[in-house]
Amino acid sequence: SESLVWFRRDLRVGDLPTLSAAGERALGLFVLDDRLLGPSGGPRRDFLYRSLSALDQQLGGRLLVVRGDPVEVVPMIAKAVGAQEVHVSADYGPYGRERDAAVAEHVDLVATGSPYAVAPGRVTKDDGSPYKVFTPWFKRWLDHGWRGPAGTGADTLDWIDPDDVGGRGRRVRIPAPDAPGPEAGEVAAHERWREFCDDDLLRYDDERDRPDLDTTSRMSVYLKFGNIHPRTMLADLARRRSRGAEQYRRQVAWRDFYADILFQRPDSARRNYDTKFDAIRHDAGRDADALFAAWCEGRTGYPIVDAGMRQLVAEGWMHNRVRMIVASFLVKDLHLPWWRGARFFMQHLVDGDLASNQHGWQWTAGSGTDASPYFRVFNPTGQGEKFDPTGDYVRRWVPELRGIGGKAVHTLKDARPENYPEQIVDHAEERREALARYGELS
Ligand code: FAD
Repeated sequence: SESLVWFRRDLRVGDLPTLSAAGERALGLFVLDDRLLGPSGGPRRDFLYRSLSALDQQLGGRLLVVRGDPVEVVPMIAKAVGAQEVHVSADYGPYGRERDAAVAEHVDLVATGSPYAVAPGRVTKDDGSPYKVFTPWFKRWLDHGWRGPAGTGADTLDWIDPDDVGGRGRRVRIPAPDAPGPEAGEVAAHERWREFCDDDLLRYDDERDRPDLDTTSRMSVYLKFGNIHPRTMLADLARRRSRGAEQYRRQVAWRDFYADILFQRPDSARRNYDTKFDAIRHDAGRDADALFAAWCEGRTGYPIVDAGMRQLVAEGWMHNRVRMIVASFLVKDLHLPWWRGARFFMQHLVDGDLASNQHGWQWTAGSGTDASPYFRVFNPTGQGEKFDPTGDYVRRWVPELRGIGGKAVHTLKDARPENYPEQIVDHAEERREALARYGELS
């Protein structure tokens, strides 16, 4: 019998258990949902459109793309196809859960698999309660384990032509991207993954914190849209066995961990996970909007912060170490609320993911799970010298500083080029201020 495969954030055909569950003949559907597309920034939307084009190609041009509210559209199309079941990979985000519950009132929604190695909610303490700290959670996650990759591909299903089932009226063209960006889709994801494994995985343990070397995998964008499943990657890591592979597996676990936390506490997308932090004072003392604008535009006068923000806006991606540094700067040097920075990140990141982003921010702000203790205030200059010791990262993104050699580019001790901004705040002073504010909490 016919079924409907509703793609969401799993834009691939390989290692997709949903396809095995769907039977033999199915219509592939994607719904352009303005409630998700609206808040998403242009770079992420563009990547989505590229992923959809790649998927459409894999389905022989038979992906039905429609625009609308899934709660209305999905049941209608299921009916048009005569599908008994609608097959999906489970969505554990706050919006996705509500949407799916509403759709399930009208159709038989069958969820098989998830975008994670271990689905949220599965790793718990002995008494069934959730973990709040990563390391013990990680041990349990390893013990729990995951299945091997599912052997699926484009040819496992007979894809129904949308034009044959009355999809014609609603079918829309996949929107064209506005700007160039990283190549999307399953083939690109696998190519990038193979390249990383061959060239950089062995060095990953030593080099992952070095933005100047820029040797991390950049797989986050592909994982975000399910162009590849983490299980596929974990299977390769198990074959490769090295310190780099182990460290990489741990990073993949962070992604699962934050999805689990968001699943346990959907409210933590918008507010402090640790509500003690609700009482913190956020007034910047000066013109908060001007300080925020300087941060967004990479004009703070702190080279590593400015390099990071300029990379974010130019590339839609930022190195993890630098994400922590710029986030710390916004929260602890400018005393602005983490969600303001998180929102800006979500507008620009191609890999922007509610769970990883909001909890990455909360980790830095001290209000999250297993957070960096609030009294740990990153010194942006020291962080730059330590993690960009060649200074190459800063010079790559801040052209005003290209004339300065080596790590002097972080201190600018001898000379601050005239066309480069003065420091907008004094770090030593703001560090004391941040500690004083946190001190008021308990
Ligand atoms: P690699 O070092 O190659 O890591 C491999 C994979 O492990 C990543 O692709 C990612 O899926 C996962 N991973 C690594 N570190 C983390 C982490 N700290 N948390 C969760 N998963 C991790 N990651 C996102 O995918 N989307 C976001 O919106 C996002 N926002 C962040 C915001 C802040 C303030 C911070 C500190 C971190 C954020 N991260 C986010 C996590 C991390 O910075 C990125 O996953 C990473 O930089 C992506 O580059 P990569 O693929 O080369 O990483």
